Amino acid sequence: MHKDFYKTGRERLIAQLRSAGISDERVLGAIATIPREKFVPDAIKSRAYEDTALPIGNHQTISQPYTVAFMTSALNIKPGDSVLEIGTGSGYQAATLIMLGAKVFTVERHWELYNSAKKTLDELGLSAQSRFGDGTIGWSEFAPYDAIIVTAGAPELPQSLLLQLAIGGRMIIPVGDERSQTLKYVVRKDDREFDAFDMQEFRFVPLIGKEGWTVG
Ligand code: SAH
Repeated sequence: MHKDFYKTGRERLIAQLRSAGISDERVLGAIATIPREKFVPDAIKSRAYEDTALPIGNHQTISQPYTVAFMTSALNIKPGDSVLEIGTGSGYQAATLIMLGAKVFTVERHWELYNSAKKTLDELGLSAQSRFGDGTIGWSEFAPYDAIIVTAGAPELPQSLLLQLAIGGRMIIPVGDERSQTLKYVVRKDDREFDAFDMQEFRFVPLIGKEGWTVG
């Protein structure tokens, strides 16, 4: 595929995101520079700039660009923020956070995806700490986090993640059944107090693990 093909696609995508209500210029700027084609399998690279989720193997998907833009805007990432992502998948969401200057810690439970995302980020010179394992219990070693983003649908708020938020830290996580989830925005007010409110409905693949859905 000629590189102008992707450039045109990226420009069209940015226009679509704007008309869908995304207005955070930093987030749009990040999406305008990340080559999404590098995060999808060869066979579907030509579709990289469609505003849709796409299959990445292991029955998982790279999130729809609108969803990435919406969640990233909501988190209001500042340079230097330490951010934990649960569900690395392709690595695209992690790349978006890195472009905004975040220190990114990302966890994935599928070995192949963990490996290929790490490789993709490395090749693009984007640096993240990656871990293979169950992210529903967080990553306590580097806690607390200024922000936590969960990119798979949970049955309820995982306690471990709440407790790994810094005071004033925010978490965005889809919660619901397997068909549809409400995006919840949680802010840690102090040791024990959390504010939570509902944003819009989305559809994610399930969050599977100790504090998520059980496999099966
Ligand atoms: N953020 C990704 C979206 C991937 S889809 C991207 O930008 O491409 C969600 C991912 O969450 C899948 O790869 C899935 O394997 C992973 N996942 C589900 N449950 C998980 C868990 N408990 N810990 C870590 N990753 C998990």
